[in-house]
Amino acid sequence: MKITFAGAAQTVTGSCFHVETKTTQFLVDCGMFQGLPELEERNRAPFPFDPVEVRRLILTHGHLDHLGLIPRLMREGFRGRIVTTTPTRDIAHIMLMDAARIQEESEEEEPLYTTEDAFLALDRMNRLLEYGQHYRMAPGVEVTLMDAGHILGAAFVVVRTEGKTVIFSGDLGNRGKPLVEDPAYPPKADVLILESTYGDRVHRPISESIEELRRVILRTFEAGGNVIIPSFALERTQEVLYILYRLWRERKIPKCEIYLDSPLATAATRIFEKHSHRFPEPARRIFRKKRNPFAFELLKYTLTRRASKRIPSDQGGAIIIAGSGMCTGGRILYHLKVNLPRPESSVVFVGYQAEGTLGREILDGAERVEIMGSIVPVRANIVRIEGLSAHADQRILVDWALHADPSLIVLVHGEERALGALAEKFISLGYSVHIPAWHETIEV
Ligand SMILES: [Zn+2]
Ligand SMILES: [Zn+2]
Repeated sequence: MKITFAGAAQTVTGSCFHVETKTTQFLVDCGMFQGLPELEERNRAPFPFDPVEVRRLILTHGHLDHLGLIPRLMREGFRGRIVTTTPTRDIAHIMLMDAARIQEESEEEEPLYTTEDAFLALDRMNRLLEYGQHYRMAPGVEVTLMDAGHILGAAFVVVRTEGKTVIFSGDLGNRGKPLVEDPAYPPKADVLILESTYGDRVHRPISESIEELRRVILRTFEAGGNVIIPSFALERTQEVLYILYRLWRERKIPKCEIYLDSPLATAATRIFEKHSHRFPEPARRIFRKKRNPFAFELLKYTLTRRASKRIPSDQGGAIIIAGSGMCTGGRILYHLKVNLPRPESSVVFVGYQAEGTLGREILDGAERVEIMGSIVPVRANIVRIEGLSAHADQRILVDWALHADPSLIVLVHGEERALGALAEKFISLGYSVHIPAWHETIEV
């Protein structure tokens, strides 16, 4: 079989792998490139395959860098079925509609696709699998989705064909997270296509991260500022809400106002509520008891623009969670513009910031940044809490990969440093490692 790396090759975003076997052609993910302008240009580059010839698309999870180009694939003639989990299908609905709206509203560029293309894509998402279920996708090609522990519904993909087992890790989760199970271990594989986002890091334990967040909140309130959290709509937002709920119930943070200022994250939260039976304990039990960490007295959802404008962003004592997570757009921009110049406020990054994004610029220590046409000085307290990451760190990646014990490890979905560090680690353990280039094809 042949595997072509149509995205996430020597970069984090744009996940898309094309597989050609003797009997079929399929894709694993069809994500959007995000961040640096030269990367985003790739969203318009021709696919290194013919979408008409592709029979199936296996979707690992609902993040934009894994599904954001599916409507373009429809536009270019893909008419196969999309194979995924039920929560991912639900998440895809809001993610693709939001992405299509952003495309349609863009004044700078020709839209990549329209809402109609997004609907067409959702229509094809009709082969829903449970974790562990075997699916005969084509003659001699069997596919199994397993719990990747990354976000609600996320899967890694085990493909068995032509006497070989190939595993696509998708995005692999961190351990000990409140709303997702730990990643399941993979079976023995011949080839492992492995994500490397945090391949050069070891996260602190989640309990330390929660304590760190608590201390930042207390310190900021004492100084009279706000805590601003740029948050990803999926998982991270719900997790932060859950953590704040627990801290509040345990009287570890004072009574304060918490705003979720993101219509997308609000819609995502409703999907999480619907699938709360999939949460690990104790979160599942809390929901079963009809208590809802996504609706408690401190928390306000600001759905309309008007409600958003009424948030006292220029005062103190509030926690404001807003998208987008990498600060590339959305309502977070306004809250940053108001709070970055205030030394009493804090901006807390709880997720991955890609190269070329405003979030990365702030995190890398910029003294001033441009936001909505104005130059804004950065005087606020900038905090990074990596332990809340939805991605496995080097230790988890290595331990997980050792269970698959593959003859070849192909590293994808990482920046140069992470890829290099992880490759070195695997080579030192005696594994063969390959880091493919964009559009490279390998024969398995
Ligand atoms: Zn992801
Ligand atoms: Zn990803």
